[in-house]
Amino acid sequence: MTTPTAGHRAVLDAGLRWLYETEQPDNAWQEHHGLLLRAPATNRLYGFIPANDGRRVVVAVDVASIAWIDNGPNELKTPANPLEPGELAALATDLRALGFEVTSTWNGHPQTTGSVGLARTAHPSLLAAVDRAHAGCLAHPRRGAFCDCDAWRAGYDRVVRPALPPAA
Ligand SMILES: [Zn+2]
Repeated sequence: MTTPTAGHRAVLDAGLRWLYETEQPDNAWQEHHGLLLRAPATNRLYGFIPANDGRRVVVAVDVASIAWIDNGPNELKTPANPLEPGELAALATDLRALGFEVTSTWNGHPQTTGSVGLARTAHPSLLAAVDRAHAGCLAHPRRGAFCDCDAWRAGYDRVVRPALPPAA
């Protein structure tokens, strides 16, 4: 079993607490792409997605700042710093060690992004907040979730987030 680095572990703990243990107010709404947390020491960005593809929880890891290799004219650039071989498997192992059943993984090395699906569904109050975001602004139904009125935007601000610095 691998030992997560301290920074990675702190981010996982914060994200999983947010997904599973944090009560969201009933006047908050949350976009389905969830919470992003930085792990600057390892140039990683972790996503905690409460309702990807229906009700599936997904933990994603991305290279935060990608360095691209220029392969010459007419050739696609390739990332110089993709996820490490085995990095996604190690993340899945860490999540299992924390007591979560992993349903599947996607991508990973040599790509710059990877995802782990978890069997346990997110906190009901968080899923309800995602449903409210889907429903959109009740005052301006034609604008729906894309409404930019103050009242609608305030609902996103009422989501309870961990104290770690979130990604921009
Ligand atoms: Zn509105």
